[in-house]
Amino acid sequence: MKRNSGQDPAITSRWRPATRAIRGGTARSEFGETSEALFLTSGFAYDCAEDAAARFNGEQSGMTYSRLQNPTVEMLEKRISLMEGAEATRCMASGMAAMTAALLCQLQMGDHVVASRALFGSCRWLTDSLLPKFGIETTIIDGRELDQWEAAIRPNTKVFFFETPANPTMDIIDLKAVCEIARAHGITSVVDNAFATNVLQRPMEYGADVVAYSATKMMDGQGRVLAGAVCGTEDFITNTLLPFTRNTGPTLSAFNAWVVLKGLETLDLRIRRQSDNALKVARFLEGRVERVNYPGLASHPQHNLAMSQMEAAGPIFSLYVGGGRARAHALLNALELVDISNNIGDSRSLMTHPSSTTHHGLGEEARLAVGITEDMLRLNVGLEDVDDVIEDLDRALGKAGL
Ligand SMILES: *Cc1c(COP(=O)(O)O)cnc(C)c1O
Repeated sequence: MKRNSGQDPAITSRWRPATRAIRGGTARSEFGETSEALFLTSGFAYDCAEDAAARFNGEQSGMTYSRLQNPTVEMLEKRISLMEGAEATRCMASGMAAMTAALLCQLQMGDHVVASRALFGSCRWLTDSLLPKFGIETTIIDGRELDQWEAAIRPNTKVFFFETPANPTMDIIDLKAVCEIARAHGITSVVDNAFATNVLQRPMEYGADVVAYSATKMMDGQGRVLAGAVCGTEDFITNTLLPFTRNTGPTLSAFNAWVVLKGLETLDLRIRRQSDNALKVARFLEGRVERVNYPGLASHPQHNLAMSQMEAAGPIFSLYVGGGRARAHALLNALELVDISNNIGDSRSLMTHPSSTTHHGLGEEARLAVGITEDMLRLNVGLEDVDDVIEDLDRALGKAGL
């Protein structure tokens, strides 16, 4: 075995965040490769039958099958744990595999969940359609209102589920206050931290129990692979999450884990530059369109709360252009540089019309309740020269009559 300082807690605990993002979790093979090795293997072989038996009964550590463990995936899990300040992490095939596993692994018939209404579209499908099918009740609230969390609690409430900033409304939820309410009632808080990532916001520092990710977004950061992760205590991961995921199999592929490992090396640089670019674009758009919804702007109603729990406001925001779907689509169709795309977290600037794409399935009534109107657009500001992005928007706004 080569020097594996990235897996030695006595060493990694001294490292600052940017170092952890590059070296955390690295385990070198006998070749001493500098970049992490990609272990494309489904199975593992044993020196003798007794070793195989010892691995399966837990007496010997080591890998048995890539649905359960894989060296490349494990490096990513260790790196995310270090960056998050979590005891343990397990990676999943996608963000939705992570959200589904984080909820279903701890819930059963008769339980109750309280969720904030401003959620990623598929997360709302979990709370509104999937959980009730299995006899798990959900109450949907305005997560910005602390008394609504408190009022929704029942004797059988097991989980609080929310994201902040929320997609695409950019609602901010008070992490410390909501996690405190959960703790006081023995409820597990599950936070979807995809928008901010652990570079800008670490929910566990505010008392969150479980943090779940779509690593497809900022963590990969270059629009290449789908991936997800669930972070929690060693006890939660080992005794609650693993029995569910080991047997249901939402496993992350080694190749995708390797790509995300490479993405994490530049996450700090990318997300801070994209946040700077987003602030410049948001300032340009303010005054030019009806409303810009960016937590980094003083005009955002929760600007102070956002900046108290985030280091920067991130690359994503929404805007209202007036004139309904016709003007929103006209603006999209006039873009030359910014792509029409429902993805986010990419180094490319991307824009989408949530009510006809990502939140189409939510239905009109639920969309309007959270403020997803026909004239709303969502923008992911990338790493291009920000002046080119602003010029493209300026031209497209002119063509759309703004
Ligand atoms: C994209 C996203 C998800 C789902 O992640 P996938 O990797 O696409 O499955 C969940 N939550 C939020 C906030 C997201 O942005």
